[in-house]
Amino acid sequence: MTRVVLATHNAHKVDELRAILGDALAGIELVGYDGPEPVEDGVTFAENALIKARAAAVHTGLPALADDSGISVDALDGAPGIHSARFAGTRDDADNRALLLERLEGVSDRAARFVCAAALVTPSGFEHVEVGEWPGAVLLEARGAGGFGYDPIFAPVGSAGSAAELTRDEKNAVSHRWLAFSALMPVVRERASA
Ligand code: IMP
Repeated sequence: MTRVVLATHNAHKVDELRAILGDALAGIELVGYDGPEPVEDGVTFAENALIKARAAAVHTGLPALADDSGISVDALDGAPGIHSARFAGTRDDADNRALLLERLEGVSDRAARFVCAAALVTPSGFEHVEVGEWPGAVLLEARGAGGFGYDPIFAPVGSAGSAAELTRDEKNAVSHRWLAFSALMPVVRERASA
Protein backbone atom coordinates (compact mmCIF):
# COMPACT_ATOMS: atom_id res chain seq x y z
CA MET A 1 0.00 0.00 0.00
CA THR A 2 1.24 3.49 -0.85
CA ARG A 3 0.32 6.03 1.84
CA VAL A 4 -0.91 9.35 0.54
CA VAL A 5 -2.13 12.19 2.74
CA LEU A 6 -5.15 14.31 1.81
CA ALA A 7 -4.50 17.89 2.91
CA THR A 8 -7.75 18.56 4.70
CA HIS A 9 -8.76 18.64 8.36
CA ASN A 10 -12.27 17.65 7.32
CA ALA A 11 -12.78 13.88 7.80
CA HIS A 12 -15.86 14.11 5.59
CA LYS A 13 -13.64 15.13 2.67
CA VAL A 14 -11.49 12.00 3.03
CA ASP A 15 -14.65 9.87 2.91
CA GLU A 16 -15.97 11.87 -0.03
CA LEU A 17 -12.78 11.35 -2.03
CA ARG A 18 -12.81 7.63 -1.24
CA ALA A 19 -16.38 7.48 -2.56
CA ILE A 20 -15.52 9.48 -5.67
CA LEU A 21 -12.44 7.48 -6.58
CA GLY A 22 -13.63 4.01 -5.58
CA ASP A 23 -11.54 1.41 -7.42
CA ALA A 24 -9.16 4.10 -8.67
CA LEU A 25 -7.76 4.13 -5.10
CA ALA A 26 -6.77 0.43 -5.13
CA GLY A 27 -3.33 0.03 -3.57
CA ILE A 28 -3.39 3.52 -2.08
CA GLU A 29 -4.05 4.25 1.59
CA LEU A 30 -5.57 7.71 1.88
CA VAL A 31 -4.95 9.30 5.28
CA GLY A 32 -6.14 12.56 6.84
CA TYR A 33 -3.95 15.45 7.90
CA ASP A 34 -3.76 17.24 11.24
CA GLY A 35 -0.81 19.58 10.66
CA PRO A 36 -0.74 23.34 10.24
CA GLU A 37 -3.04 24.82 7.60
CA PRO A 38 -1.27 27.29 5.31
CA VAL A 39 -2.61 30.68 4.26
CA GLU A 40 -4.39 30.16 0.94
CA ASP A 41 -3.22 33.32 -0.78
CA GLY A 42 -3.04 32.02 -4.35
CA VAL A 43 -5.05 33.74 -7.05
CA THR A 44 -6.12 30.58 -8.88
CA PHE A 45 -7.67 27.27 -7.83
CA ALA A 46 -4.44 25.53 -8.92
CA GLU A 47 -2.22 27.78 -6.81
CA ASN A 48 -4.32 27.26 -3.70
CA ALA A 49 -4.42 23.48 -4.20
CA LEU A 50 -0.61 23.45 -4.53
CA ILE A 51 -0.17 25.61 -1.40
CA LYS A 52 -2.22 23.11 0.64
CA ALA A 53 -0.51 20.02 -0.83
CA ARG A 54 2.98 21.47 -0.30
CA ALA A 55 2.28 22.19 3.37
CA ALA A 56 1.00 18.66 3.96
CA ALA A 57 3.92 17.03 2.11
CA VAL A 58 6.46 19.05 4.11
CA HIS A 59 4.72 18.39 7.42
CA THR A 60 4.11 14.64 6.98
CA GLY A 61 6.94 13.55 4.69
CA LEU A 62 4.29 11.77 2.60
CA PRO A 63 3.03 12.40 -0.93
CA ALA A 64 0.15 14.84 -0.48
CA LEU A 65 -3.07 15.53 -2.36
CA ALA A 66 -5.14 18.70 -2.01
CA ASP A 67 -7.97 20.33 -3.87
CA ASP A 68 -9.48 23.75 -4.23
CA SER A 69 -12.84 24.27 -5.83
CA GLY A 70 -15.68 26.66 -6.41
CA ILE A 71 -18.14 28.04 -8.94
CA SER A 72 -17.18 30.49 -11.69
CA VAL A 73 -19.89 32.50 -13.42
CA ASP A 74 -19.19 33.85 -16.91
CA ALA A 75 -21.31 36.99 -16.55
CA LEU A 76 -19.43 37.85 -13.32
CA ASP A 77 -15.99 37.45 -14.95
CA GLY A 78 -15.45 34.16 -13.13
CA ALA A 79 -16.66 35.26 -9.66
CA PRO A 80 -17.13 34.01 -7.02
CA GLY A 81 -14.33 31.64 -8.14
CA ILE A 82 -11.71 31.03 -5.45
CA HIS A 83 -13.84 33.09 -3.06
CA SER A 84 -16.86 30.75 -3.40
CA ALA A 85 -16.88 29.53 0.21
CA ARG A 86 -16.90 33.06 1.66
CA PHE A 87 -18.73 34.88 -1.15
CA ALA A 88 -21.35 36.40 1.16
CA GLY A 89 -18.85 36.92 3.97
CA THR A 90 -20.46 34.39 6.32
CA ARG A 91 -19.28 30.97 5.04
CA ASP A 92 -23.00 30.05 4.97
CA ASP A 93 -24.18 28.13 1.88
CA ALA A 94 -27.67 29.68 1.86
CA ASP A 95 -26.24 33.21 2.12
CA ASN A 96 -23.80 32.48 -0.73
CA ARG A 97 -26.60 31.17 -2.96
CA ALA A 98 -28.84 34.14 -2.17
CA LEU A 99 -26.07 36.60 -3.03
CA LEU A 100 -25.27 34.84 -6.31
CA LEU A 101 -28.96 34.86 -7.33
CA GLU A 102 -29.13 38.56 -6.43
CA ARG A 103 -26.03 39.38 -8.52
CA LEU A 104 -27.60 37.59 -11.49
CA GLU A 105 -31.02 39.24 -11.25
CA GLY A 106 -32.06 40.27 -14.77
CA VAL A 107 -28.97 38.64 -16.31
CA SER A 108 -29.85 36.33 -19.19
CA ASP A 109 -26.41 34.74 -19.73
CA ARG A 110 -26.29 32.43 -16.71
CA ALA A 111 -23.48 30.14 -17.92
CA ALA A 112 -21.27 28.89 -15.08
CA ARG A 113 -19.02 26.02 -14.17
CA PHE A 114 -17.88 24.23 -11.08
CA VAL A 115 -14.09 24.06 -11.09
CA CYS A 116 -11.81 21.79 -9.07
CA ALA A 117 -8.02 21.86 -9.06
CA ALA A 118 -6.46 18.69 -7.63
CA ALA A 119 -2.77 18.81 -6.75
CA LEU A 120 -0.12 16.21 -5.95
CA VAL A 121 3.09 17.23 -4.20
CA THR A 122 5.69 14.64 -3.18
CA PRO A 123 8.34 15.09 -0.45
CA SER A 124 11.01 15.12 -3.17
CA GLY A 125 9.40 18.22 -4.67
CA PHE A 126 7.49 16.79 -7.63
CA GLU A 127 4.32 18.83 -8.29
CA HIS A 128 1.39 18.23 -10.62
CA VAL A 129 -2.08 19.80 -10.91
CA GLU A 130 -5.15 18.70 -12.85
CA VAL A 131 -8.18 20.96 -13.26
CA GLY A 132 -11.70 19.60 -13.79
CA GLU A 133 -14.58 21.77 -15.03
CA TRP A 134 -18.28 20.81 -14.83
CA PRO A 135 -20.21 23.22 -17.06
CA GLY A 136 -23.78 24.34 -16.56
CA ALA A 137 -25.88 27.37 -15.69
CA VAL A 138 -27.16 29.17 -12.62
CA LEU A 139 -30.89 28.55 -12.17
CA LEU A 140 -33.40 31.31 -11.35
CA GLU A 141 -34.17 29.68 -7.99
CA ALA A 142 -33.01 26.79 -5.81
CA ARG A 143 -34.19 23.25 -6.57
CA GLY A 144 -33.61 19.98 -4.73
CA ALA A 145 -32.54 19.02 -1.23
CA GLY A 146 -29.33 17.10 -1.87
CA GLY A 147 -25.73 18.21 -2.32
CA PHE A 148 -24.18 21.24 -0.66
CA GLY A 149 -22.91 24.72 -1.48
CA TYR A 150 -24.18 25.99 -4.81
CA ASP A 151 -25.65 22.62 -5.93
CA PRO A 152 -29.33 23.68 -5.58
CA ILE A 153 -28.88 26.62 -7.98
CA PHE A 154 -26.58 24.90 -10.51
CA ALA A 155 -28.03 23.07 -13.52
CA PRO A 156 -25.35 20.87 -15.10
CA VAL A 157 -25.28 20.88 -18.90
CA GLY A 158 -27.59 18.14 -20.14
CA SER A 159 -29.59 18.00 -16.92
CA ALA A 160 -33.14 19.28 -16.54
CA GLY A 161 -32.80 19.89 -12.81
CA SER A 162 -30.15 21.04 -10.36
CA ALA A 163 -27.03 19.29 -9.07
CA ALA A 164 -28.88 18.97 -5.74
CA GLU A 165 -31.40 16.68 -7.48
CA LEU A 166 -28.72 14.18 -8.51
CA THR A 167 -27.88 11.24 -6.27
CA ARG A 168 -24.44 11.30 -4.69
CA ASP A 169 -23.29 8.59 -7.08
CA GLU A 170 -24.67 10.41 -10.13
CA LYS A 171 -22.84 13.58 -9.14
CA ASN A 172 -19.63 11.76 -8.24
CA ALA A 173 -19.53 10.15 -11.70
CA VAL A 174 -19.45 13.47 -13.58
CA SER A 175 -18.43 16.28 -11.21
CA HIS A 176 -15.50 18.68 -11.43
CA ARG A 177 -13.95 16.84 -8.46
CA TRP A 178 -14.22 13.49 -10.24
CA LEU A 179 -12.73 14.95 -13.44
CA ALA A 180 -9.77 16.50 -11.61
CA PHE A 181 -8.94 13.57 -9.34
CA SER A 182 -9.49 10.83 -11.92
CA ALA A 183 -7.03 12.67 -14.20
CA LEU A 184 -4.57 13.02 -11.31
CA MET A 185 -4.65 9.39 -10.14
CA PRO A 186 -2.39 7.93 -12.86
CA VAL A 187 0.22 10.54 -11.90
CA VAL A 188 -0.22 9.65 -8.22
CA ARG A 189 0.34 5.96 -9.05
CA GLU A 190 3.47 6.75 -10.99
CA ARG A 191 5.01 9.28 -8.63
CA ALA A 192 3.76 8.58 -5.10
CA SER A 193 5.47 5.21 -4.80
CA ALA A 194 8.70 6.39 -6.47
P1 IMP B 1 -13.79 23.61 -1.28
O1 IMP B 1 -12.57 24.19 -1.92
O2 IMP B 1 -14.04 22.21 -1.73
O3 IMP B 1 -13.83 23.79 0.19
O4 IMP B 1 -15.04 24.40 -1.87
C1 IMP B 1 -15.14 25.81 -1.80
C2 IMP B 1 -16.58 26.24 -1.97
O5 IMP B 1 -16.96 26.08 -3.34
C3 IMP B 1 -17.59 25.44 -1.18
O6 IMP B 1 -17.77 25.99 0.10
C4 IMP B 1 -18.83 25.59 -2.02
O7 IMP B 1 -19.45 26.81 -1.73
C5 IMP B 1 -18.29 25.65 -3.43
N1 IMP B 1 -18.29 24.31 -4.05
C6 IMP B 1 -17.20 23.57 -4.39
N2 IMP B 1 -17.57 22.39 -4.92
C7 IMP B 1 -18.93 22.39 -4.91
C8 IMP B 1 -19.90 21.43 -5.33
O8 IMP B 1 -19.61 20.31 -5.78
N3 IMP B 1 -21.18 21.78 -5.15
C9 IMP B 1 -21.56 22.98 -4.63
N4 IMP B 1 -20.71 23.90 -4.22
C10 IMP B 1 -19.38 23.62 -4.37
